[in-house]
Amino acid sequence: MRLVSGLLQGREQLWWDTPQGLLRVGYVAGLRGQGDLAWTMDRYLANLDSVHDLLQSWVHWAEDNRVVTDHLPDVMLAPVTHPGKILCVGLNYRPHAKESHMEIPNDPVLFNKYCNAVVGSEYPVHPPADAHQLDYEAELVVVMGRQAVNVAESEALRYVAGYCNGNDVSARDLQFRTSQWLLGKAADGFGPMGPYLVTRDEIPDPDQLEIVCRRNGIEVQHSNTRYMIFSCAFLVSYISRYVTLEPGDVIFTGTPEGVILGQPESERQWLKAGETVSVSIEGLGELITPIGHWKE
Ligand code: ZN
Repeated sequence: MRLVSGLLQGREQLWWDTPQGLLRVGYVAGLRGQGDLAWTMDRYLANLDSVHDLLQSWVHWAEDNRVVTDHLPDVMLAPVTHPGKILCVGLNYRPHAKESHMEIPNDPVLFNKYCNAVVGSEYPVHPPADAHQLDYEAELVVVMGRQAVNVAESEALRYVAGYCNGNDVSARDLQFRTSQWLLGKAADGFGPMGPYLVTRDEIPDPDQLEIVCRRNGIEVQHSNTRYMIFSCAFLVSYISRYVTLEPGDVIFTGTPEGVILGQPESERQWLKAGETVSVSIEGLGELITPIGHWKE
């Protein structure tokens, strides 16, 4: 399933993205005699075991019966609007570590963002006034679906609800102002995700996905998640040894080569207002991020 979060009359709701268009989960639930409860991504993730198959059967029924949705979202949101934790992995592709003139890590380099960074597709980023070196980072995002505490690598993907595109928007001048990267990574709107969550059953191997980033339609990053130093399963297992992962927590798994930072200093053209960055990972649709005006 491809699950879309959106706002309808000011309330968060859940839609399926189907070949016929968006279909509101609550509407179909009502048609199936289940009452039009507030179906949200949080509700789906918190009850994954009991509701995944139910939602799957409803969308199949709706498609077979050519059900047309009652309402489209007024506003599209990131698939997970308020993740409890946003963990990010730095330097997870060798060529990107190399282009950044950093050591190949022996252990995952972890940092984080907060909910203020979360925005959906087509939502413009408005960087801080003194962020002069704005860059993109196409990344596969893992969305957790079960509480994970010290899980084995071989079991780790069973704790995942699904995957989406992410853009680890980075202001390099703020990132390297001090030894901690946080400031350049955690600004408002610096964590676009979307356009939807693709459930785990549709992505048999998250470590075999083409990953592409385009700047104003021109390809600037193109790799495959098979080149990640630390696999999705390893990352979930590793993090869960130290930090309890909960449903709705997300992990940005790192970016491949091709970022602006990786170019020779004299050739770097940092992002400007009016540009558009898009991230397309195989099977996950396209996440579009317009660069808006800078904050005053
Ligand atoms: Zn990153």
